[in-house]
Amino acid sequence: MEKLYRCEVCGMILAEGQLEDKCPKCGQPKEKYHEMSEEDAEKSRRSDYTNDLHMELINLLNQIEDISNLGIEDNLDPSCVNVFKRAKAHASLLKQYSKAEIAGHIAKGKW
Ligand SMILES: [Zn+2]
Repeated sequence: MEKLYRCEVCGMILAEGQLEDKCPKCGQPKEKYHEMSEEDAEKSRRSDYTNDLHMELINLLNQIEDISNLGIEDNLDPSCVNVFKRAKAHASLLKQYSKAEIAGHIAKGKW
């Protein structure tokens, strides 16, 4: 497995082959990068895909909210508007679930 390094200033994580003279995010010298323990690196690698899935889910839920807003605005009849309002509320709630999960991952080094 390729070693991972974390910038102690901004938290940016890079693979060994990506290290440059300065942190690409915060501009600090590369001495601010420290090799992550194998346990921490594995947490980061293991959670990468799941975090991407959460972001994709949030993106789709944003689209559901947008579609719901169009349906509410269209206002064909009350039962349609009710469906769109419920879809919007569910999408909003599910987005919060995913955001809370991502926040939990970050707190545990899973990012
Ligand atoms: Zn940095």
